[in-house]
Formats: sequence, structure tokens, C-alpha cells
Amino acid sequence: MKILRSLEELIFPVRCIGCGALGLEICSQCRKYWPPRIIRTYSRWAPHIPVFSSIPYSPIASKVLLAAKESGLLAADRLLTDALKFALIYCLDETRGTFLVPIPSRKKVARQRGRQFISVIAHDAGEFTSSPIHELLTHTRKVKDQSTLDAKARSLNLDGALISLRFISGHAVLIDDLVTTGATLHEAARALRAEGITVAAAVTACVAEPLR
Ligand SMILES: [Zn+2]
Repeated sequence: MKILRSLEELIFPVRCIGCGALGLEICSQCRKYWPPRIIRTYSRWAPHIPVFSSIPYSPIASKVLLAAKESGLLAADRLLTDALKFALIYCLDETRGTFLVPIPSRKKVARQRGRQFISVIAHDAGEFTSSPIHELLTHTRKVKDQSTLDAKARSLNLDGALISLRFISGHAVLIDDLVTTGATLHEAARALRAEGITVAAAVTACVAEPLR
């Protein structure tokens, strides 16, 4: 699958993920909306967990996320992995985080995509910072697609939806591609704490500011 995608990207000319212009995987115009910098936020749903991100959400960021998640475009994976690494370095420097816990997509979605996207980019970022990855979280029941729900409905939708598979000592850093309300981080942290695991922080590639 990965080899096929690589071949495709070699054979066909490179187009900008943001606007489709020929040339670079992200052109200089769209690059303005992909400026890695450290953005620290706190969600009202998870006020004790500092969130480190590096790309502000925008229509361009949305296209990169979709290209990685839905089309499996390696160039988009690379952009997101780099964004994640950038924020992760700062997070590990400033918090007591010792290992990474990716927040999994819904099982049905992962099956459709043929991969657990967030695990792939978390592993790449974790290798870079020599951080162990523990895939501790799994869904316990079906949840709705979050994208059409408001903050309150997201929180209700996710309540009790995740479970931690086992205990690991140390301080967890939650990993996700995007934070919008923090409801997912809140639910992930709850599931880990229920197993006795401390959550030090969260790192996401993109952030939709202000968190709702
Ligand atoms: Zn462009």
C-alpha cells in the first residue's frame, strides 16, 4: 500500500496539497498558512492538560489533514509528522512527559482508511524524539462522527467511549492530529487516569483556536 502510494507520487507530477498548483507539495502561497510555531492552549474540557500544537487550523490545514487521512498522501503525512515533531520537542522539554499515547480513530474509520493514521504519524514523531509509544487506548463502543457536533454534544458523544488497555508507569503525552474543543483529549485522559496513568500533556499537529 505504502509502496504503491510512493510510486504514484513518483510517476505523477507533484501538486500543491492546498491549491493544486504544479511544483511543490505545498506552494509558497499556501505555505503561509502552514507556519510551524509553538501554540500552547488549554481546553475548558481538560483544563489541567497543556496542549502543544504547531499549525493554526485553516482551509489549507484542513486540506492537508484530509489528504493524509482520507487519501493517504505521503507528502501530507510528512507535513503533519513534521508539525507534530516540532510541538513534541517543546512539550517534552517543558513537561514531565515520558511516553506517547496516540488517540485512535474510530475502528470503522481506521478500517476504511486501511490504517490507524494517528499511530503512523505518532510513531514517526516518537522515533525522532526517542520517545516510547504505547497504544493503550481503544474504543469501547460506537461514537458518532464529531465534525458536525458542537462542543457539548462532542463531550456527551465521547463520554466513556475510550478505555485504557493496561497500566504503564510514567507520564503520558496524548497525541492527536487536531484539537478543536479538547473533548477527545478529556475523554482520553479520563480513560488513562482510570487505569492509574498520569497525563502530563497533549501534542497535536494542528489547533483550531480558540478552543470551544
Ligand atoms: Zn498552494
